[in-house]
Amino acid sequence: MGLFFWVVIALVKEMTDIPSDAAARRAIQPVICYPVDALPPPPLAMYQAAFADAAVIDSVKAAPRDAAAIKVPAGHVLRMTSVEGAQVGDLNLFNAHDLNERFYSGKTRALHGTHVSTGDRLWSSFPQLRPMATVIRDTLDWYGIDGFGGSVHDVIGTRCDPYTGNLLNGTQYHHCCHSNLTRALSDAAGITLQDAELLVHDVLNVFMCTGFTRDTGQYFMKASPVRPGDHLDLFAEIDLLAVLSACPGGDCSAEHSSDAAPCYPLLMEVLSPSDGMLADWAAPPLNGYDRSHGR
Ligand SMILES: [Zn+2]
Repeated sequence: MGLFFWVVIALVKEMTDIPSDAAARRAIQPVICYPVDALPPPPLAMYQAAFADAAVIDSVKAAPRDAAAIKVPAGHVLRMTSVEGAQVGDLNLFNAHDLNERFYSGKTRALHGTHVSTGDRLWSSFPQLRPMATVIRDTLDWYGIDGFGGSVHDVIGTRCDPYTGNLLNGTQYHHCCHSNLTRALSDAAGITLQDAELLVHDVLNVFMCTGFTRDTGQYFMKASPVRPGDHLDLFAEIDLLAVLSACPGGDCSAEHSSDAAPCYPLLMEVLSPSDGMLADWAAPPLNGYDRSHGR
């Protein structure tokens, strides 16, 4: 009797909280927060032509459940390739001369959407906020958006990390992407693990297939459609230090933050453009905001 009473009270309260114009409010059309039509489009045709017969000048492999770093000079391409088996990668990008200028996944998401592909830019953090890289080739372009709302190469996830694992499961796992990126950045930049950890940031989830559930809005993952030979090519707009972790989740079909999933290496290559093909290209300027912040 008591429970029934409270259920009725709750239902009545909920009913009375719904305004009479609820349907009209919900029917308001959305507007895009940040239309990018005003941005100059990247010169994709020039980029693609310059790297049609590109030579590989450097390479490194990220071992399974580990990360590797490589420098990519401005005007070159970073190619990330699936080798041996379906594998997801977590990518951090830094200005090679100033590690404080880092990839800004949240702003990239606000500008280009939840997943990136050919023609999208990867933007850097404040106060620089400029394109660090441009996607010029994506062999998974064909995937599009599946029936679950999933797509590939997201900027919605963070990076798997030992803190969340400890919070949820009490674990001490040392090969999450966060730790892999921290070790690789520490080695590449010659800084302590503690300093490196503070520079590691939310990633581009290379090859990962993700979305949000329609009913609960939760972040989901599903087996990546990537196969050996698939690659994602990023044109470096500035001198980059790229750090890539081969996620312990493997193809991220089941779980991460453990040694349970089959894992494979990821190849990173630096491609050099054909002579003279980038004559009309110029590195992007720093953001034009004057930083006076109203004072
Ligand atoms: Zn991961």
